[in-house]
This record gives sequence, structure tokens and C-alpha cells, in this order.
Amino acid sequence: MLKKILKFGGTSVGTIERIQHVAKIIKKEYDFGNKVIAIVSAMSGKTNELIKMSKSIDEEFDKRELDVLLSSGEQVTAALLAGALKRLNVKAKSWLNWQVPILTEGKHFNSRIVNARTNEIDNFLNEGIAIIPGFQGISKNGDITTIGRGGSDATAVALAKIFKTDSCEIYTDVDGVYSSDPNKIPVAKKIEKISYDEMLELSSLGAKVMQPSAVQTSMIYKIPLEVRSTFTDRKGTRIFDHENLDYSKSVTGVAYSKDDAKLTIIGVEDKPGVAANLFEPLNDAQINVDMVIQNISSDEKTTDITFTIKRVDLLKTKKILEKNQNIKYKKITHNDKVSKVSIVGAGMVSTPGVTYKMFKGLAESKINILAISTSEIKLSVIINEENTLKAVKKLHTIFDLD
Ligand code: ADP
Ligand code: ASP
Ligand code: MG
Repeated sequence: MLKKILKFGGTSVGTIERIQHVAKIIKKEYDFGNKVIAIVSAMSGKTNELIKMSKSIDEEFDKRELDVLLSSGEQVTAALLAGALKRLNVKAKSWLNWQVPILTEGKHFNSRIVNARTNEIDNFLNEGIAIIPGFQGISKNGDITTIGRGGSDATAVALAKIFKTDSCEIYTDVDGVYSSDPNKIPVAKKIEKISYDEMLELSSLGAKVMQPSAVQTSMIYKIPLEVRSTFTDRKGTRIFDHENLDYSKSVTGVAYSKDDAKLTIIGVEDKPGVAANLFEPLNDAQINVDMVIQNISSDEKTTDITFTIKRVDLLKTKKILEKNQNIKYKKITHNDKVSKVSIVGAGMVSTPGVTYKMFKGLAESKINILAISTSEIKLSVIINEENTLKAVKKLHTIFDLD
């Protein structure tokens, strides 16, 4: 007998029929003698719909009330799934965030789970299935909090740790982690097993099949994950700390995201302290700067500095720069029609020439590189957004992933 967390994402519970199908998957585990805690997402599209409703009242809708609103999506699914299981004559019960309770710390809309009470649910698992809404908890002062978009993955991993389960299975609408998004790159291949590090890079760089903070928690606490399909029985992808990494391929996957923007400050004074003066107020405003490029100054007096930030921070960043009295410059330009395309692979460390191969491939496809950043196991470039899929396909091919 195993104690398992099974997490079902939005598409997996997107209709009543799908919720009934999920109930059958859970019943199978139950009939097998396993103890199941099911973590559920809101039905697909629901969270976006709720956000839209809040914005129609106020673009800057109160964050406390937003969390109350958004948490309702997952609560609906939890109750429907409990009902569907009872209909199959399986004992089941849903627990809302405050009933467990799941305790969180941090800001509204961006909290993290720190603990949960386990005894009541653990007792119930001797008789039936426990169902818990993902993506939420309550804060120390009793307010409902949500834990970031895609956060039901993080709920699954956190509760796998807290409830000390034997496994944590992420059921979704694809049958595993692929070398690139299989819905956009049909030649992408399923990855049988992948290390935490590589998965963390892939998901942070846009592969939304797993939420980055969930991968990070699983890496810290060594909680193995399996990503698998709600709609087929095929074996999924195992994410774990395997030491026998496959270094035969330099690149494991190609990811992309379209949520960056690029800013260039033209004609900044070229003297010590300018970059610090430039980035200090951005740091104070908690704006995350990703890539930075400083051109070599041609007249030794002025230079151009380019950097990238999240697209949602663009207006705020421009305002801060324009208000900054500590820097002198000619003008600021920006481009928010850019994307970030990245290759990820533990094998990159030991394979020379990966950078050259990537740049050559993009050049062959006549794709201009606007900014570059590297780490041990990833290489990212900023390019014009219209070239995104062309670049991903080219890189997928030249690194033998098709
Ligand atoms: P869920 O609602 O189950 O949490 P998500 O929509 O968050 O599911 O994640 C699954 C989606 O992730 C897939 O439908 C797929 O389009 C996308 N995806 C992006 N990159 C990858 C990848 N490398 N491998 C698998 N899926 C990916
Ligand atoms: N419903 C939430 C979202 O759409 C959380 C999740 O689905 O994981 O972001
Ligand atoms: Mg998800």
C-alpha cells in the first residue's frame, strides 16, 4: 500500500465528463489499496476568467479580495470531484484551505506553503480519498492567500513533503515532459527521465508543464515527481536526482517565453558607478533585471546599456528611469515584441562548441540575436518575437532533438 499525491491540472478537470474521468483514475488507485490525496486545479480558463472579472471592476483590484476570488476556482473542482467519487461509491471528502489548514507565508497572490495539519486527513485516508484545492492556503492572520500562477503544482509538492507521501504524480494534458512544447513543435520527443536541475531551467525558461517553484521545492527536498497524462495510460516522465545523467546529448530541451521586454539607454556617461546608479532604484522597486549588455564606448565618454526585464514591469521601469536624477543619457528606447529562446542541457558543461552551434543555426535562419545570457547548463537569447517558433524548430533540429 502506497500513500500518493495525485495532482490534476486545469484541462484534466476542464469539464464535468473529465472530472468524472479523473474520479475513475482515483478509484483505480483506491481499489488497488493505495491511499490517495488528490490536489485539484480550477477548471481550465476559470482563473483567467476570475482575473478578468476583477479587472473589469478595478485594474489594480485589492489583492486580499483577489485571493478570496481566485481560490474559489479550485474549491469548485474539489467539491465536484468529491461528489463524482461518492457517485462511484468511493468514500471521499474535500477540505478547503482553512479546514486543513494549509499555512502560508508571504504576500497575497504570491505566498508559499510553509506547513499543514496532517493528522485529521491522515486518519481519513484509512477510509477514503482526501481532496484538497491547489494554489492556496491561509496566512498567519487567517486571510486566504494564493501561491502564484500554476501554483497547484507547488501545492502537490509541498503536501507530498508535509504528508510524507511515497509519490507525487502530476496528471496533465500531455503525457510527459518533452524536448520542447509538443503542442507547438510536433517533432518534439518525450523525455523518459530528467534531473531536477534541467527541469528547473526548462520550466523557468518557459516550459509551463511544471511550475518552477514546485520544481525548486522538489529539488531541495528530493521529492521525485512523475509527469503523466490524464487521458492515456502511457508512462510519463520522471523528474528526480539521478546521478547517471545522459551526457551523450549536449542539449536536453528547447524552451521559450514571450514575457520579456528589452530597454536600451543610449548615450549614458561612461564612468564608474553609472550602472550601479542605474540599477539601484530598479532593485528598490523589486524589478528583476535579467540580461545586461554594455557596449564598448566609441568616444570613451558615453556608452549604451541594454537590459531585459519582465514585460509586465516595462512601464514601471521606464518611469523609474525617467525620474532617476543620478544618470545622464540621450534617450531610452524599448522593445516589447521580443521573446527569449533557450537551450538547456546538463551535457553542455562537457561539450565544447554549443554556443557557436546555436549562433550559427540562428544565423542560417537569418534570425538576429538581441541579447545573450548563459549559465552552466543553459544558453538563452533574446530575439524578435515573430521569429520564435522558427528559432525553436531550428535549434531543436540542429541539436538532434527531432
Ligand atoms: P496543467 O493545467 O495540467 O497544469 P499546463 O497547461 O500548466 O497544465 O502545462 C501543460 C502544457 O505545458 C502542455 O499542454 C504543453 O503545451 C505545455 N508545455 C510547454 N513546454 C512543454 C514541454 N517541454 N513538455 C511538455 N509540455 C510542455
Ligand atoms: N488555477 C491556477 C492557475 O490557473 C493554479 C493552477 O492551475 O495550477 O494559475
Ligand atoms: Mg500547470
